Amino acid sequence: MQELHDAPLAPLTTLRLGGPATRLLTATTDDEVVAAVREADDSGTPLLLIGGGSNLVIGDKGFDGTALHLATRGFALDGTTLELAAGEVWTDAVARTVEAGLAGVECLAGIPGSAGATPVQNVGAYGQEVAGTITEVVAYDREARETVTLANADCAFSYRNSRFKAEPDRYVVLRVRFALEDADGLSGPIRYAETARALGVAPGDRVPLAAARDVVLKLRAGKGMVLDPEDHDTWSAGSFFTNPILTEEEFAAFRARVADRLGTAAEPPAYPAGEGRTKTSAAWLIDKAGFTKGYGTGPARISGKHTLALTNRGGATTEDLLALAREVVAGVHEAFGVTLVNEPVTVGVSLHP
Ligand SMILES: Cc1cc2nc3c(=O)[nH]c(=O)nc-3n(C[C@H](O)[C@H](O)[C@H](O)COP(=O)(O)OP(=O)(O)OC[C@H]3O[C@@H](n4cnc5c(N)ncnc54)[C@H](O)[C@@H]3O)c2cc1C
Repeated sequence: MQELHDAPLAPLTTLRLGGPATRLLTATTDDEVVAAVREADDSGTPLLLIGGGSNLVIGDKGFDGTALHLATRGFALDGTTLELAAGEVWTDAVARTVEAGLAGVECLAGIPGSAGATPVQNVGAYGQEVAGTITEVVAYDREARETVTLANADCAFSYRNSRFKAEPDRYVVLRVRFALEDADGLSGPIRYAETARALGVAPGDRVPLAAARDVVLKLRAGKGMVLDPEDHDTWSAGSFFTNPILTEEEFAAFRARVADRLGTAAEPPAYPAGEGRTKTSAAWLIDKAGFTKGYGTGPARISGKHTLALTNRGGATTEDLLALAREVVAGVHEAFGVTLVNEPVTVGVSLHP
């Protein structure tokens, strides 16, 4: 196991932000992962798990403890059953499932990060989320001090959430198992209106797998949502805010604020989100509150391609990024009375200090 001291963490994140870790371990086998976690727990040392660093905002002071980089590898396909080691690169795994002619995760192409992190926030995009195909998650349970296998129903998956996110200091995902679909080379039903439009099909239709993946990658690239080291618009943690889910009362108050500010003809985006709940769009709120694409003059700015991504234009600090995020949260709240919540995990810092 590789061990470094006073090691910079910024290079391990897609934002390229964050100070050093007291100790950085890189584990390449499940046994090394478990040993490192046990050692940290036995000595009472704080532990930070890092996969691809694409959903992490690490403070400028860094992390006083052990950062454990999960670099395990393993891609095992047996019929339509796929098992991935936590450290597998998610985009590579998706590419291989498409090559193998199997449907289920093709619309999740282009999402950076590791396979092991996908169940953590129930990664989703363009009408698919991993909760739809995951059958089991093998994890080290730090409370029980043993490796456990959780069935899909035990993972408490919901929109950008799971048991692993709700109990962040308990589970270390080691392996993720998926049930894919053999649909004779076709994709799963295209559920997302934007993707269906771009493909020229009706929602619910199936298309060749590669066509679905390619259109998703094209749409994502247009929004700066495919990593490109040369393009600062992609130096982000993806969507910085989750789409707010409002109760009936909250949604009615929100609509009234929209009518006040934008006129009675203006209707905010609204999608059913379970019993008595409505999901609206964080990107719409940010834009209508006056924070348009490219907003900002400093080293941290809103992406020029997508209002939801906060980017490091090079030379930014985490505090620069958080100052921008707080400005957006305050502006949206003042305009519409809705409080935005950050999607990426913050380490040693908080959006709402
Ligand atoms: C350009 C861009 C586009 C994105 N688009 C999307 C999108 O469309 N949809 C979407 O859902 N997300 C998106 N994201 C967010 C991100 O890619 C996902 O959340 C991804 O799953 C994070 O994986 P990671 O390995 O980088 O996790 P990290 O950033 O390394 O870690 C994220 C969290 O998970 C924990 N963690 C990591 N590995 C494990 C493990 N094995 N066991 C337990 N906990 C672990 C970490 O401690 C941390 O709390 C995007 C990000 C970027 C930069």
